[in-house]
Amino acid sequence: MASAFSHAVVALGIGACFYRPGTPKRVWVIGALCSAIPDLDVIGFRFGVHYSDFWGHRGFTHSLVFAALLATAALAIGFWRKPAGLGRFLLWIYFFLATASHGLLDAMTDGGLGVAFFSPFNNARYFLPWTPIRVSPIGIGRFFSPRGLEVVCSELLWIWLPAALLSVSAWLIRRRTAHST
Ligand SMILES: [Zn+2]
Repeated sequence: MASAFSHAVVALGIGACFYRPGTPKRVWVIGALCSAIPDLDVIGFRFGVHYSDFWGHRGFTHSLVFAALLATAALAIGFWRKPAGLGRFLLWIYFFLATASHGLLDAMTDGGLGVAFFSPFNNARYFLPWTPIRVSPIGIGRFFSPRGLEVVCSELLWIWLPAALLSVSAWLIRRRTAHST
């Protein structure tokens, strides 16, 4: 896993590209939650689920199918009435991307097993060819250690900075189009 905060930051960065005036704030809160939910699979470790299992860490909950299911659930529960700003289709795409970004980030970390992107059809685990992000230790206790600091620095550089650049670019593009219309 990359840490939950970093996943949320990416969800907000993607959200900046979807921003429309009048969009309710809970859209971004739900997007951030969607991006962190896949790591609830670590609970399985307590119940004897193995890392490489279907329900193991980075297994089904990190797949594209799970992202589609979670996006559908988030839309059904949070937005059964049409929200202002974004339409339902764009909201679904946003929640899907926010959730799917989680697996993508994990596949860019340098440790653990890869991500089961294509579960439940294929439980093989994948990494991207490029893995610059230091893998975050599982559990809060181990996070506060020299290794934890190294993880924070690598996440700031490879996750927070690109997410911030994405948000600023989206904002600049919106401002330009607003001025030119
Ligand atoms: Zn994860």
